[in-house]
Parts: sequence; C-alpha cells; structure tokens
Amino acid sequence: MNLSTSVLTQLLEALPHLHTQLYFKSSLTALSHAMEDQVLASEAGQLLVIASFQRERFYRQEAHRYVRIAELTPQVYVLAAPETSFTSRSDKYETIAFDPDDALSQEWHLVVIGNQFASCLICRERQISPSEAEDLPTMDQSRRFEGIWTFDRQVCQTAAKILLDRIQIYRPELTEKIATVHAQLLDHDGADWHDADADPFAQRLVTYLQAGQYKLLKAYRSISAQNRRERLVNSITAAIRRSLKPEEIFRVAVTELGQAMAVCRCLIYRCKATDTRTIIEHEFLANPDLPSLAGQSWQLSGNSLFQAVVERHESIALTDTQQPATELTPLQPLIQQWQIRSWLLVPVLYQERLLGMVELHTCNAAHQWTRDELTMVEAIAAQLGVALIQAESYANLEDLNQQLEALERARSNLIAITGHELRTPLSTIQVCIESLASEPDMPLELRQVMLDTAMTDAERMRNLIQDFITLSRLESGRVQWHLEPLALSECIDLALSSIRTRQVAKLPAINTHVPGELPLVRADGEWLVEVLSKLLDNACKFTEPEGQVVIEAKPNGGAMLEVTIADTGRGIEPNRLEAVFDRFYQEEGALRRTAGGTGLGLAICRQVVRGLGGQIWAESAGRDQGSQFHFTIPIAHEPTEPKNTTNGRSPQTAKRRRDRSSTPAKG
Ligand code: ADP
Repeated sequence: MNLSTSVLTQLLEALPHLHTQLYFKSSLTALSHAMEDQVLASEAGQLLVIASFQRERFYRQEAHRYVRIAELTPQVYVLAAPETSFTSRSDKYETIAFDPDDALSQEWHLVVIGNQFASCLICRERQISPSEAEDLPTMDQSRRFEGIWTFDRQVCQTAAKILLDRIQIYRPELTEKIATVHAQLLDHDGADWHDADADPFAQRLVTYLQAGQYKLLKAYRSISAQNRRERLVNSITAAIRRSLKPEEIFRVAVTELGQAMAVCRCLIYRCKATDTRTIIEHEFLANPDLPSLAGQSWQLSGNSLFQAVVERHESIALTDTQQPATELTPLQPLIQQWQIRSWLLVPVLYQERLLGMVELHTCNAAHQWTRDELTMVEAIAAQLGVALIQAESYANLEDLNQQLEALERARSNLIAITGHELRTPLSTIQVCIESLASEPDMPLELRQVMLDTAMTDAERMRNLIQDFITLSRLESGRVQWHLEPLALSECIDLALSSIRTRQVAKLPAINTHVPGELPLVRADGEWLVEVLSKLLDNACKFTEPEGQVVIEAKPNGGAMLEVTIADTGRGIEPNRLEAVFDRFYQEEGALRRTAGGTGLGLAICRQVVRGLGGQIWAESAGRDQGSQFHFTIPIAHEPTEPKNTTNGRSPQTAKRRRDRSSTPAKG
C-alpha cells in the first residue's frame, strides 16, 4: 500500500462483494451529521471514531462536534489535508495532517464503531468531466461521491483497520493506542453485541436531509431571483442599445419591470424637480380591472411623497397606505382613486439632477418592499438615467449636425447666388458706371438712363442679399418665434398698406373677404405680415392692373385658419405648383425676367408658415387661369378679449420695428 492508494479501493479489494453507490454531497453531509449525532447520543463506553476530511476547511466547520465526541472516548482520529493551522498532534483527540498528494484528499470517510452500533461511510469524490461540468451549475450541491455507506459491522471494522493503518504511517507513535482499539472493537466479530435500534438514526438523517433540501431551495430561489434580475437588466440594456429614443426604452422598461416585480401598476415618467404635474404615458397594469393612469394627469407638486423624493434624492418605500400617518392625509383622495396600497418611488437621477421617476404600486395587499427589490428598481432607474442622458446628447449632436448642414447649405447657396444671381446686376452696374466714366460727353438723357439702370440693379442686389440672409436664418432654425394671439385682419391691413406704399405701378383691384368674427391666430405677427406681403406682392406682380386679387380667410374645420390669396393673373402650369416654392425658382429664368423679384420669396414663405405650424400650397388651373396661394395658421386657444386682442406685441409694433417691409430684422 502506498499513499496514492484509495481507501475505497482497498476496502473493495478486501470485501469484493460490496457494491458502491453514488451520493450527492448534501446526502453525505446529512449522513455524517446523523452518524456523529448517533455517537453523541450514545452512552460512553468503548467507542472508535475516525473522520477523514478532504481539506482542513471542511473539518473546521465540524470541529466543535469532535470536541464533544472526544469527551466520550479517547479513540477519536481526525484526518485532513492541512491548509493553514492543521497539524498532526495529540490533544483532545488525535489529528493527522496528511500529505495533500495522499489519495485521502479525494475521499470522505467517517467510521463510528461502538458496542451498540457500527456504521461507516467510505467515499471517493467523482471528478466531473469538463462536458458534464458545462451542464451543471457551478455549485457545491453538484459535487458527487461514489462509495459505501453501511451499518454492517464487518465492513466498518475492515474500513477502520485500513484507515488506522494509514494513520500509523503518519503517526507511528500511535501504534500502541491503535493496538488497544483493535483489541477492544476491531478484532472482535461483535456477534454477541446487539446493535441499537436504527430508528433514531433514520429520524436524524431525515432531519438533516430536510435541512439540506431547504438550503438547496434557498439557493434556487436566489438563483432564480438573480436570473430574473439579469433578464430584466438585459432586456432594458438591449432596448437602450437598440434605440436612442427614451420613449421606446420606457415602453420596454415599464412592462418588464412591472412583470418582474409582480406589482399591480408600474409607472415610468420623465419629470423635473419643479414640475407640477405630468401626463402618464408609460404604465404597466397587471390587471385590466384596475383603474388606468395612462393618459391621465398625475399630480406632482402637491404629492408629498414625490416632494420627499425630490428633496432627499432618495427612493421612498411605503408598505401600507392604510396605516394611519398624517403626512398621507392629503394623498388619500389619490390613494383611493387609484387604489394604491403599497407605494415605491425611485428617482431617475443623473448627477443629482432629477430626470424622471419610477413608481410601483400594489393595489390589493400591503407589501413590504425588500432591500433586494429596491436595489433592483434602483439599478433599472440608473440605467434609465443613462439612457436619457444618452438620448439628450444624441439630440444635441443631431442639432449641431443640422446646424452644420444648414451652414453647408448657406455656403453653397452663397456660391450660387454670387455665381449667378449677383453677377448679372453687378455687370449691369459696372457697364453703366464704366460708360458714364469713359464718355463724359454722353447726352444728359442717356446719362440718366444709365444712372437709373445702375440704381435699379443695385436695389435688386440689396433685396437679393437681404432675402438670402432671411432664408438662411430660417433654414438654419436660428429664428426665435414670438408667438401670441393675433387678429388676422390686422395683419392683412398691415400687409396691404405696405404694398400700397411700395408699389409705384398701378395695382389690380384687391378685395378682402375676412369675416369679423374669425378666431384669433397664434403666430408671430412680424413674420405673418411678411408672408402676407410676399404673397400679395406676387399676386399683384403677376396680374394685369385690370385683373383682381382676393384675400380670404376661414376656419378649416380643425384647429387652423386657412388664408387664401387668389389672383386672376398669369397662372402657373400644374407641374410647376410645387417647384415655385424652390429657391431661385422663376418661370422666366433670371435673365428674361419681366417682373422684379429675387426668386426667394415663396421659399421664405414656406419656411415661415412651417415654422408657425401651418402648411402652404399653390393651386392654379394653368397658364392665364389665375393662381391661388393657400396657407394655414393655428388658431389661438387662450380666452382673450374679442377686440384689439393683440396682447403684448401687436402687428403695429412689428411694423414699427421693421426696417424694410419685406424682411423682418430677426435675431
Ligand atoms: P419672385 O421674387 O420671382 O416673385 P417667388 O419665390 O416669390 O420669387 O416666386 C417664384 C416664382 O413663382 C415667380 O417667379 C413666378 O414664376 C411664380 N409665382 C409666384 N407667385 C405667382 C402668382 N401669383 N402667379 C403666377 N406665378 C407666380
């Protein structure tokens, strides 16, 4: 025999009729405890106990039992592979620190032999193959052993002898002591001893097995809770990865969290510390019979729980809203209406800034929120905070991108305008000035014509540059709209007076059909007058003085007013009705222009109308059939005085502030 020989192998060689069996670690623990208890419950007498532990640490957990067992008998031997302080010595009992390479380090043995009983457990750990290990959870419970457990006295005696032989190798000084126990208990066939009733043993065994099972159950519970948490966090992280839209992330999170927490209601909303109320957009309801908060206004300012979270920057968990508590009194109507029994509020924070709130409600029974639950919801809230910040930064980036794009557009427009639009008038001006300079004898009449031409083209250039700057501002989104309730008729009057003062040529007849009882519109007066002026300008420009221009306004059946400026002029080809709104679109092209203009007017109108929340479009039956330009503008909802209703700034002030009627000087 050498140290690499397994005790189990030796036993099987000595007693070939024995059959081994497979034991899980928990069964061996229960069996060992039951056997130790049997010893502890026995009366002192001749008694041998040999326990071999794979490692010192396993022995440490049981050491106290061996101290008690050693009070019953001097024949107690404990073997273990040393790790820190375990050594071979004779103290209350014999300890044997075996070589870590000894086959004992793979085995678990316990032999107890008395006059009234004998039992032994001789087992070797089964090494799990790597493929098996993959399928098994990495836990202690999956460890398996192969070996013998029996009450058979002969088997126990043989096992004890093998173990004592091994002990003698390490502790030869114990030879005498071992010889004593041989004589007392091992060389005796025990035929005239009556083994005690196995019943108490079985009882203890079952108790220990139950305890083991209970531990297992707890382990499973914590694993499944952990799984649930991981799944939840994963699905929310996946949602964050998939989308930068907080709305989408909230939609996933509210359902997943509500389900995982098994609550009646889960709410997730964005809010600031100063918000007074919010509309609930994301709600999970476990049961459709419960009152739903979706789409409802949710009170924040008078809600003492919300305020407490805001102040402390901490979650608040309320077990039972039905417990008398004065601070809840103002919330009772809310609690009753929405049937809230337990309440958990967890803030979504980013660097101390409140970004939103997660609320969990139970409705039927009071619920004590556990630390685990709180940790989980707080982890989700933290994720949501990150998602919101990500989305915010992305939006900022997008904004910057749009500004960059607008700049790029402005740059290429500038090239276009200098290349084509400005070059024409500039060359005219140059030709005129050169002629004036080189021909001092030029007749006075011709000189005047030259000067007039140069002046007209200089004015055209000025208008072009002004319109170009206006359009660039509008397109880059740098215009701040000053929205206020306005009377449309006043804006029309201003536009009319501006065109009448500017136009030198004879205008066609202009008729206005705007009912006095029209609701106010919500718009920026200055820009609204600008749109009206440009459309009127065009209508007059492209209509003979004998023709007619009609301005009409009516509610369009929804929340908008529709304004129409119709003329009987030259009309627009049906396939050009969209193109007229493009920059620099002019039917004749820049060189064959009959009427003045920059080709930017309608592009500006489209930007303004869209910016004010409306739409603009053109209609025409075709060439010489007249044109109708329509645009919509939102109706103001605030209850305001019916007459002279321009609270704050009025279109009159707008007019005063304008340096030139066709271009609002806006920042
Ligand atoms: P412009 O400075 O040339 O008027 P706009 O952008 O205002 O520039 O208009 C673009 C083009 O659309 C005009 O040149 C003209 O061809 C066409 N258009 C605009 N308004 C009318 C109208 N009322 N009748 C016919 N054509 C029009």
